[in-house]
Amino acid sequence: MINSPPVDQPVIPWLDNGRPREECGVFAIHGNQDAAALSALGLHALQHRGQEAAGIVSFDGHHFHPHRDLGQVGDIFGDPSVIERLKGEAAIGHVRYSTSGDPALRNVQPLYADFHFGGLALAHNGNLTNARTLRQELVSRGALFQSTSDTEVFQHLIATSAGGRLIDRFTDALSQVEGAYSLVALSRRKVIAARDPLGVRPLSLGRLGSSWIVTSESCAFDIIGADFVRDVDPGEVIVIDDNGLESIKPLPKMKQRFCIFEYVYFARPDSLIEDRNVYEVRKRIGAELARESHIAADMVIPVPDSGVPAAIGYAGEVGLPFELGLIRNHYVGRTFIEPRDEIRHLGVKLKHNANREQLMGKRVVMVDDSIVRGTTAKKIVEMVRQAGAKEVHLRISSPPTTQSCFYGIDTPERRELLAAQHDVEGMRALVGADSLAFVSVDGLYKAVCGAARDKASPQFCDACFTDEYPTSLTDLADGTEKSQLSLLAEIGRR
Ligand code: AMP
Repeated sequence: MINSPPVDQPVIPWLDNGRPREECGVFAIHGNQDAAALSALGLHALQHRGQEAAGIVSFDGHHFHPHRDLGQVGDIFGDPSVIERLKGEAAIGHVRYSTSGDPALRNVQPLYADFHFGGLALAHNGNLTNARTLRQELVSRGALFQSTSDTEVFQHLIATSAGGRLIDRFTDALSQVEGAYSLVALSRRKVIAARDPLGVRPLSLGRLGSSWIVTSESCAFDIIGADFVRDVDPGEVIVIDDNGLESIKPLPKMKQRFCIFEYVYFARPDSLIEDRNVYEVRKRIGAELARESHIAADMVIPVPDSGVPAAIGYAGEVGLPFELGLIRNHYVGRTFIEPRDEIRHLGVKLKHNANREQLMGKRVVMVDDSIVRGTTAKKIVEMVRQAGAKEVHLRISSPPTTQSCFYGIDTPERRELLAAQHDVEGMRALVGADSLAFVSVDGLYKAVCGAARDKASPQFCDACFTDEYPTSLTDLADGTEKSQLSLLAEIGRR
């Protein structure tokens, strides 16, 4: 099932073809006779966190049963005979966004390995920032890596740990990694879940009857009728077995730095994170955006779907009608959402169409959640104008994205980020809008947590907007150049 890595490709744990591709969702369940079926449903609800590959590993008391493939959850687990084969009362699952160039099966999780203490499956959301460094050390000590995923580093750290019990080895491994991880693992006896001390990526604990569930977002509880219990705490390790649930906090305590972009775009709006409903947060960001940068207009329209909650908040704040000036086609095949430029250009037109009758002769405020490369904004502004809008004012419910994420959100390298190359006026000119405004960093913070950004000790990870990374970026050699491409070139030269 596992292919070997191509020999001519430099092996960088969290880079595939020079691009970080590690958006993911995880799911784990213990003590339920339908463990695999419930995992598949849970992964369905997490599909937005990764659409390129998915996998489940179950354990039936004697054997582990894996099934992983490229594609979407419904395609991979839609055949009842697949779920039938995944026997057992415990399972973990994973959805992953992988690259167009290297969506190799060897990177599809959960990863599984036989250790001397028995089998262990692992599924990870987030990126480690010292994975390459750890990997080089491990390889120099004889470790043989099978994948390019940074998750495999955990396996080797667990295998080589001097700890006795699995949980000691597990926490020993956690103590050596830097960066973001929301992890679930399945051994012969236990489901283990862990969240990094900063709590960068989400992870929630839920209950279905007597079964425990741990998953990336609470929307995965809703689909299976489970109850949300609480977020897994940053730095917390949860161990679930036949005796129940045990929580330990083996890592040094740090101030939480949850990813603020999960609130802006990535998480599903119906999820509950840190006791906040993501949809309500997005509406508040839209309202804040309106307070900061409203301009005379006739209507507010969202770029669907991601701009919808913020546009509702914006329209409500200024008392303008909220209209669907753009209609989204939900049946666009995955081919057109792949990250190749020539295809992406087509994709924008296939995905959205202007609702002419609404737009004709109108001054429009158009709300989207973010500008990454600017491709979407440019096409959509043009589309709305061609449909007869008199003015198009673009409002963005995040600050300018000037930096790449190294913690698990798929962002292109820095030089491809529009905001890294242009100021707001330059971006406005490029996307062709009459005006362009982004919510401020403080405005975003106020909308999310009711307070401005604490400059000395920020409440969230906002590195993509502020260039302040909450961990050292150990893999980026001297830390002066954050372009993944230059890193790739550097590795290639060694
Ligand atoms: P772009 O066309 O490159 O400027 O991309 C902007 C659009 O991509 C926005 O409308 C967002 O909804 C969406 N977006 C933002 N961040 C991401 C991400 N990490 N992965 C996929 N889509 C994203």
